[in-house]
Amino acid sequence: MPLAPEAVLKMARQIEMTDEVEYTCDDVHRLLDEFAEAVLRGEDTARLMPLVQKHLDMCHDCREEFEALLRVLRAPTSAASAGSAV
Ligand SMILES: [Zn+2]
Repeated sequence: MPLAPEAVLKMARQIEMTDEVEYTCDDVHRLLDEFAEAVLRGEDTARLMPLVQKHLDMCHDCREEFEALLRVLRAPTSAASAGSAV
């Protein structure tokens, strides 16, 4: 007994329209590099990657991870200045 095409179509449309998709921590971890780099470039991450932004707002673990990553990315890439401290 096949599923009525209408029902399938209706279901597909509902999935498409669902804005309330949420990322898991795994999803966010996979995108965290990209997200942090976009932040550093001054891009509008809330618009580009709203789901990551949303997850970071809710998930303390991922937020800490993200902030740690930002710190690393902001740090000078070369160690040339390491010896310049007084
Ligand atoms: Zn998370």
